[in-house]
Amino acid sequence: MTRPADDAVDAAMARALELAAAAQGWGDTPIGAVVLGPAGTVLAEAANERERTGDPTAHAEVLALRAAARVHGDGWRLTGCTLVVTLEPCTMCAGASVLARVARVVYGADDPKAGAVGSLWDVVRDRRLNHRPQVTAGVRAEESATLLRAFFRARRGL
Ligand SMILES: [Zn+2]
Repeated sequence: MTRPADDAVDAAMARALELAAAAQGWGDTPIGAVVLGPAGTVLAEAANERERTGDPTAHAEVLALRAAARVHGDGWRLTGCTLVVTLEPCTMCAGASVLARVARVVYGADDPKAGAVGSLWDVVRDRRLNHRPQVTAGVRAEESATLLRAFFRARRGL
């Protein structure tokens, strides 16, 4: 199966970090996501919009997966696609990645409090499920963690 070249993944993470930074502008936790098609083209991108839209499911990954499915020519399936996200996905987003049949999940910082791609749970590599995306963790993790720390520090008024 084809998969995006490393430089396409690097560029997608750079864009996801920009999207994460933008989310702070409307009061959302800085998390950004990009979905790459099998050849490495950008299918969709999104930032966290939970506060902005008052939607508990408006995580960056879900928004990006939905938008990608609208433009990828395989119905709801994102076969061969790569989800690139700045923070380890939660249970919902890890589950959505499995359901979307993405080939690979690439993420930045670990989320020890809610991560479901190895930290608290490992939804994407659960052998009871019949689809298991590949995982690459820790891509530009420090930049993502720095954004998140600054956001929460500012929220606490420190
Ligand atoms: Zn999530």
